[in-house]
Formats: sequence, C-alpha cells, structure tokens
Amino acid sequence: MSSSPTSTAQRAVRWSGLALAVLAAVGCAQLPPPGAAAVPTAAPANTNGPAGDGVNNLLVGAVAWKQTAAEYRALYHQGFNVARMHVEAALKARKPGDRPLAVVTDMDDTILLPLAYWGHLIERNKDFFDDAVWDQWVPRNQIVPSPGSQDFLRFCKDNGVEVFYVTSRDQGERTYEYAMEHLKLLGAPYADTAHLTVLRDSSNKQPRQDEIAKAFEIVVYLGDNLNDFRRKYYTKSVDDRLKLMEEDRAMYGRKYVVFPNPTDGHWMRAIFGDSEPPPSNDNRATFKRAATRNAWDGK
Ligand SMILES: [Mg+2]
Repeated sequence: MSSSPTSTAQRAVRWSGLALAVLAAVGCAQLPPPGAAAVPTAAPANTNGPAGDGVNNLLVGAVAWKQTAAEYRALYHQGFNVARMHVEAALKARKPGDRPLAVVTDMDDTILLPLAYWGHLIERNKDFFDDAVWDQWVPRNQIVPSPGSQDFLRFCKDNGVEVFYVTSRDQGERTYEYAMEHLKLLGAPYADTAHLTVLRDSSNKQPRQDEIAKAFEIVVYLGDNLNDFRRKYYTKSVDDRLKLMEEDRAMYGRKYVVFPNPTDGHWMRAIFGDSEPPPSNDNRATFKRAATRNAWDGK
C-alpha cells in the first residue's frame, strides 16, 4: 500500500472530520461551555491525503496520543492490575484437583507496542495501516513492552499460572520465528512452541482458545481487539459489534481485559469492511462519515 496524492480541494473539511474521528477514538473531545460563541464556519476546503509537511494526516492525533499520553500508558497498568487481581483471586480459590490456571493473551498492542512503526508511517505521510511497511518493520525487533506487561507476566510465571500467546500475524515463512523473537525481547515466560500460537491464514483465535480451555482454567483473556476474546465480534457492522459487546458487558474487566488502540483493529473493519483499508479518498470520506455519525448541527 502507498498513500496516493489527490485533488487539492476541501482538505480542511476532511481534516476537521478526521480530527473528530481521532478525538472520538481516544475519547477526549471537549464540549464548549454554555453560551460559548458559535462554532466558526468551515475552514477552507481541501480533500487531499497527507502531503507536504503531513500535518493533515488523519492518523496524527491517534499516534500522538499513543506516543505521548500518560493516560494511554495508565490504561495498560490499569488492565494488567485488573488481570492480576483476578489471577490472585483464582490462586486463592484453588482447590486440589482443579484444572491448572492460565492466561490467554494477544501480542501486538496488548503486551507489546509497535510505537516506532506508527511514528514511521506519520513521518512518511501515510494515513492508513501499511501492511508492506509492517512486514518490513516486524523483523527489526523495535517493538517495545507495553507498560506493566513484563511485571504481570512474571507474576503469572512465579505463581505457576501458564501464559498462552495467541497472535494473528503473517510475515511469510519466518512469521513464527519473528513472533518468538518478540516474546524473547520482552523477556516473556513460557516463550516456547507449546505456548505461542501464530495464526497466519486467519484472525480466528477461538479454536486455539477453546483447545487451551479444555486443559486449563482460563482466568482472563487480554487483548486490544474484541476478536481477542471471542470470534462472534467479527462482524462488519458497527451497530452489531456495539450490540454484541453490550450483551457481554459483564465480562469486561472480569474475564476480558481490553487495552486501548485508536489506530487499528476490527473497529476499523466495521467501518470500512476491511481491517486494513487502502489509503483512498473514498476511505477518508468513509472515516469522516463514521466520525460524524453523532454530530451537533450547530443549532
Ligand atoms: Mg493486538
């Protein structure tokens, strides 16, 4: 994939819409105080993709948040603290004869953060996930531990709770080797073939999860994508996805621990029909429609 330059009209309109998308994604939009002046009319039109200095890149807000926000990192600590509380409770409740305890975790954006990859996309004026760049970047081993992941994994190991890594990646024949290198880089326990599953042809993690559940009591599932918990969330409808999640509301923070990801995942697939939509103006317009599905009309 590569970003394609387009016409120069309506760029700012797009930018404002895309900025809304980013703000919505990170949940930080602020309302004006009551009685505030009317919202300015639309800025000069511009529909180009990112070009020139790239400050009109729709990914900038989300990636800046990932790169800098203490809140982003705090959400990882929060997630791992919640997971640890459940592991502690499960250890305490164990009785002789019970199945051994396990944790099932995703890798990317859960225990590992690909921050340099996203910074690279912004520097190259790319405004959509770029699979070719990702495949080049993965073997560079620049992925870093997410905050709290190493302590949590060590705690599991120290208490005999096995950790299973189930990831969906495809960088060709060496995919598995690259994923294993990332676990070793993290200092992850149970970095072996019995505990690492890499799905190259599908993102469906459920068969492997169900297999693990036959032999282990899975205390928690960790992931940044609802698909990391159950396959039923794999739908191309935004509304269905929201509904399915709400049906399982009691599971979140209990059985499922979600980590934040405002740049990629199946939430994008629900908007675009594709987890990795190409960088087209149609897709930029689709993103704006998603960002304005709830919008004040200015009255
Ligand atoms: Mg992930």
